[in-house]
Amino acid sequence: MKKFIQEKHQEAALDDLKTILAYPSYLQEDDETPFGKDIQAVLEKTLEISEKLGFKTYIDPEGYYGYAEMGEGEELFAVLCHLDVVPPGNLKLWDSKPFEPTIKDGFIIARGSQDDKGPTIAAMYALKAVMDGGETLNKRVRFIFGVDEENLWRCLNRYNELEEKATMGFAPDSTFPVTYAEKGLLQIKLHSKETSSYRLEAGDAMNVVPEDATYEGQWVDDLESELKKNDYSYERHEQSITVKGKSVHSKNSPQGINAIVRLANVLTTKDDNKALLFLRDYVKEDARGLNIFGEVEDEASGILTCNAATLSINPEETILGIDIRYPVTVEKSFIGDKLKAAAEKAGLIYEEYDFIAPLYVPLDTPLVENLMAVYQKKTGDMQPPIVSGGATFARTMENCVAFGAQLPHAEATLHGPNERMALEDLYQAMDIYAEALYRLTCQ
Ligand SMILES: [Zn+2]
Repeated sequence: MKKFIQEKHQEAALDDLKTILAYPSYLQEDDETPFGKDIQAVLEKTLEISEKLGFKTYIDPEGYYGYAEMGEGEELFAVLCHLDVVPPGNLKLWDSKPFEPTIKDGFIIARGSQDDKGPTIAAMYALKAVMDGGETLNKRVRFIFGVDEENLWRCLNRYNELEEKATMGFAPDSTFPVTYAEKGLLQIKLHSKETSSYRLEAGDAMNVVPEDATYEGQWVDDLESELKKNDYSYERHEQSITVKGKSVHSKNSPQGINAIVRLANVLTTKDDNKALLFLRDYVKEDARGLNIFGEVEDEASGILTCNAATLSINPEETILGIDIRYPVTVEKSFIGDKLKAAAEKAGLIYEEYDFIAPLYVPLDTPLVENLMAVYQKKTGDMQPPIVSGGATFARTMENCVAFGAQLPHAEATLHGPNERMALEDLYQAMDIYAEALYRLTCQ
């Protein structure tokens, strides 16, 4: 194997990384730009850095995305990155300022260091180093910079409407080794227009198994005795009662305990709200949704998961939010039809809220085989490729996978306080990306 990355690449990469980490590029309301002026600025700055490295660049006139390209040829190889970040959260939990990149104990600390500015710069400098090594590209390599990844993916959706799609590529926005399968994501809202004597709001987000669900109203004592009978955890307050569950990410919902379903199981002894009955009789305490979908599982990506994530009951309307992650070889229409049929039987109206198609690139394709071989040679780590219920930009194009840059020993600090990446890991990722890009786009 060649050694492409030299000290000068590491130093320059770190400098440029610090530059782009200094932009607080989280989503903000703005009249002139789609996602806020800081996002616009980091996009422009990254394209400026790209030009310095020898890329040709393009920015969407409206500011939804930009890209940087090198090489000649018919085929287009994509590196799918994002420059937006999540907000810093509680500043008191940070030991340094989230947008003043700090080097300490061998780490670079700043919001975006792990997700996704560090990996982005690592991949850009990897290609620069391969070019400095005198290699010639046999296809075009395009770094596509999205800026709405942490929210609604409007950047890449627009890119796909207007621009050329890649024939192959990877997203440096996950963990090593290769994520070759990501389950399909379908989020549904079930509605019913019925009158209710009370208000109830439970569940914070569609991608989380609800930790608690609180009822306030006339049946608190009755519910308490039902909860006892079922041996469910709860907290009793004067006017209300809170059913306790266990919160996990929706993609791992079989490992959680759904407080909304448990509340429905006891509240239906008093109330015949259609959504509550649906939860009790169809969803049940079963995060695989067996009663609605039957046994849904495939060899490539495992089981379907079904999470009743949010419930809103008010005097005029009830809305139940359901998050489903389904195996990669299953059709979306199969899942949608089953849920729709069950919902209609229960008297509920079905509305699609969000959908992201699954990702699946078979293990025996040159893309996955090459990336796995490079990773294994460079690290000696022989763990198998990954199947995930999460979502990366790799899903936005055919024949793309997620690849790094988080190494298995690294702590996942993305989205949390003191987000950081070890410099050693940054340089190792550069080294892996350089060899991968060399194999896939030069030879
Ligand atoms: Zn990310």
